[in-house]
Amino acid sequence: MSFTNLGLSTKVQAAVAAAGYVSPTPIQQQAIPHVLARRDVLGIAQTGTGKTAAFVLPMLTLLEKGRARARMPRTLILEPTRELAAQVKEQFDKYGAGQKLNVALLIGGVSFGDQDLKLTRGVDVLIATPGRLLDHTERGGLLLTGVEMLVIDEADRMLDMGFIPDIERICKLVPFTRQTLFFTATMPTEIRRITETFLHNPEKIEVSKPASTAVTVTQSQVPCGREPHEKRETLRHLIRGATDLKNAIIICNRKREVALLARSLQRHGFSVGALHGDMDQTARMAALEAFRKGELPILVASDVAARGLC
Ligand code: AMP
Repeated sequence: MSFTNLGLSTKVQAAVAAAGYVSPTPIQQQAIPHVLARRDVLGIAQTGTGKTAAFVLPMLTLLEKGRARARMPRTLILEPTRELAAQVKEQFDKYGAGQKLNVALLIGGVSFGDQDLKLTRGVDVLIATPGRLLDHTERGGLLLTGVEMLVIDEADRMLDMGFIPDIERICKLVPFTRQTLFFTATMPTEIRRITETFLHNPEKIEVSKPASTAVTVTQSQVPCGREPHEKRETLRHLIRGATDLKNAIIICNRKREVALLARSLQRHGFSVGALHGDMDQTARMAALEAFRKGELPILVASDVAARGLC
């Protein structure tokens, strides 16, 4: 299977070839023709399956026709975190380089004024986190009545983060006739209810988990005590004992633990940065930049914040 018979435009196919992709992943193979046919899609797929390109590539093809109007985005993509939103924007920049598209990010922590200015110029693709999007609609600076396509990505994460009421409000602000693409890794009852309410006769596509860990990754399980201080001690031991360790990402499942662990490691003399959802955008960007440059080679992150990293 190649990218040539999915119905993507010549420009988009050229961008895919330039990215070095030879064949579409299962979710791309199955979703792209339906998206191009303007069907609603319910994609049950995890990160790592190529699901982002499964909506970005056909969107780029469809957006080649038509132009954006001031304050009325043509398409809207909702992401649970700022990092994921930024990652999706990067994909538009990468595959849409040959098109004159206006792609805007509406995420918390970035100046309202700059975002507003972008909206007045007309936006083809608006990528947003739910809270910030609603802030803009409530201030009257944004109209969702021109949205032709709505993408709800990582819906089960949105549920974990308490965004479902926001999603429901947003779904009521976009036209009833829009096309909706909905992606989730799991289908808890609440998510099923939302899909039944807001998707019209969707094409359901379910792909299995991406192939387990890449062969270049060695996994191991390390026994340790139950107490937090015992876990921290084991971790310090592991870091000190590692040979040729250039950098490390440590993922915790609570924001509070991220801060605690980062502070503890710093007290023990390690160069550590932290990344979690309660930090403002400037602090998050600074932590990521310091990690990338190797200034703070150990990054402690919450599992949600870490989703945008890999
Ligand atoms: P995603 O599931 O969207 O987070 O994508 C996972 C990774 O797969 C990203 O790094 C993409 O750049 C990459 N990817 C997406 N589509 C393909 C493809 N058809 N062939 C190879 N890699 C891909």
